[in-house]
Amino acid sequence: MNQHRRLDARSPLVLEIHELARRAGTMKQVHQVVEAPTDLGIDMIGVPQGSDITLDLRLESVIEGVLVTGTADVSLKGECARCLRDFEDRESYDLQELYFYPEKEAEEDASWIEDEMIDLDPALRDAVVLELPFTPLCRDDCLGLCIECGQVLNDDPEHSHGEEIDPRWGKLSELDVSEAEEQQEN
Ligand SMILES: [Zn+2]
Ligand SMILES: [Zn+2]
Repeated sequence: MNQHRRLDARSPLVLEIHELARRAGTMKQVHQVVEAPTDLGIDMIGVPQGSDITLDLRLESVIEGVLVTGTADVSLKGECARCLRDFEDRESYDLQELYFYPEKEAEEDASWIEDEMIDLDPALRDAVVLELPFTPLCRDDCLGLCIECGQVLNDDPEHSHGEEIDPRWGKLSELDVSEAEEQQEN
């Protein structure tokens, strides 16, 4: 039999399922705002601890246990891999997890019902963390930094250092232009 860790009923991601237990075919909708747990993310991007996660879930009693499907809406805070600025975003992730009754046969790493409760934390981690980009961008077309001076190019897309033009050459090129124009007229 599997090794259960005890679920903490006070954790916001632990849900009561006792109305559903052993009543295959019954169903419950959960719409709930919970606080984000710690370390829900990777180096450059993640869900700030304590920020709101909006859960929209359907809990369905099935023969093996309880099937959870739905979405988690989370805030993201990241550092853009191109311009290196911090940015914020909201994203919705799909959740789907089957929680087994303790006496059922399932894979070692399956999720289990314990004391008529389920813990969404591991499923939420899988759903969110595996989807996070390794090179997060503040926007898809972020222009990054100027390779010469390091300025953020999103602030000034026309930014350029140009070519230092010697004033004498400047005059010459003006001449070239007027000559060319004259030639065209002839
Ligand atoms: Zn950026
Ligand atoms: Zn520059």
